[in-house]
Amino acid sequence: MNLHLYDSPTFRMACQQFDLVADFMNIPESARDRLKMPKRSLSVSIPVNMDDGSTKVFMGYRVQHHLTLGPTKGGIRYHPDVTIGEVAALAMWMSWKCALVGLPYGGAKGGVTCDPRTLSNGELERLTRRYTQELIPVIGPQVDIPAPDVGTNEQIMAWIMDTYSLQIGHAVPGVVTGKPVLLGGSLGRREATGRGVAYLVSRAMDTLGIQAQGATAVVQGYGNVGSVAALSMAKQGIKIIAVSDAFGGIYNPNGLELNQLDAHVAATRSVVGYAGAEPITNEELLLLPCDILVPAALERQITEENASKIQCRIIAEGANGPTTPEADAILTQRPEIFVIPDILCNSGGVIVSYFEWVQDLQSFFWSECEVLDKLFRLLEQSYMQTLNHSRKHNISMRFAALSLGIKRVYDAKSLRGLYP
Ligand code: NAD
Repeated sequence: MNLHLYDSPTFRMACQQFDLVADFMNIPESARDRLKMPKRSLSVSIPVNMDDGSTKVFMGYRVQHHLTLGPTKGGIRYHPDVTIGEVAALAMWMSWKCALVGLPYGGAKGGVTCDPRTLSNGELERLTRRYTQELIPVIGPQVDIPAPDVGTNEQIMAWIMDTYSLQIGHAVPGVVTGKPVLLGGSLGRREATGRGVAYLVSRAMDTLGIQAQGATAVVQGYGNVGSVAALSMAKQGIKIIAVSDAFGGIYNPNGLELNQLDAHVAATRSVVGYAGAEPITNEELLLLPCDILVPAALERQITEENASKIQCRIIAEGANGPTTPEADAILTQRPEIFVIPDILCNSGGVIVSYFEWVQDLQSFFWSECEVLDKLFRLLEQSYMQTLNHSRKHNISMRFAALSLGIKRVYDAKSLRGLYP
């Protein structure tokens, strides 16, 4: 199969993971490309009038990985390194994630190659609206439902919902999730991914017999996922000793005061320079001795260079694809480290996105308590299924999660058959 269109380190990594699991599951060669290759992708150029009077053209993408189980679902990333290959890999992981936790979706992902921190609010709005306009033929509440990811937030989801609704002629809240609650967003969505990470960390600690009191955690990427995961772990009694963002990291072995840190981040837009800690690089941060390491930034952070030097008991993958297959092979030889793999660990986000979509379709909204109760039930079920599968077959948690997710998509495709 020619991967040329999507060829990139991240897409190759997703394919490599898939092939290893497909070998383990004895999926016939004839079915593999059909499972692996994205069903559809759209590349768009996005002309934007900039504040200085110039017109700049940005590249945007949307990849829909499979359409077998329902509409597709996945976030939109604004980041300078976005490529169609990265977006395709993230779409594939969304497919296995949705299937693992039992949601009636295929995976999708979108992205625009830009640095949102250098754009004014007006530029960001014009870029988002034009990108949405270009995507209108391929998105919709029954077709493909975007959500926030790195570099995007509730406001951007509100502009997407507004642009789409203006085209249709009435409000269509179900076209996007992660919206402000006032526009049909779900209570608990903003915090869902980070809270889910912390819930699964507590379940992993139960499994390993680690007490929260006295345990320490390190978080790479203090954005939506990382900051909420840190706060939720701190509420369980875990001490957060280091965090980082794209500008660098901070470390205090006695624990960070998160309320003060959040005030510093709100004022400066970075954790760097926080007075109550020492500076540390992102590379050093990953190697700190701790009980829980939460990569919650970008892909390919735990690699064959650092995997043997990591000193933690639990890796909780808040980010998508933070561990390369080469690093995975090293971690598999280190049974003292328990990995909660990305497609399980960060699934709280898409689970509550699903709840938001269901609430929008019914125009009937739930309390935060109902949302959290349903979220934790689904996470508990998915955690136990993955743990039991891993123990039964003596395979890693990642292998167990991927094989459960891939099997559901494979079985669904087999049941639907191949037309014509
Ligand atoms: P975000 O934009 O809110 O935060 C990302 C954070 O990572 C920022 O603090 C940024 O400065 C930092 N960062 C970027 N590059 C870095 C680097 N090289 N080293 C250290 N930090 C770096 O994004 P987010 O929504 O929190 O997403 C983080 C990860 O979680 C991504 O992998 C995303 O795909 C995944 N994820 C997000 C959601 C969600 O609901 N938002 C759901 C599932 C998975």
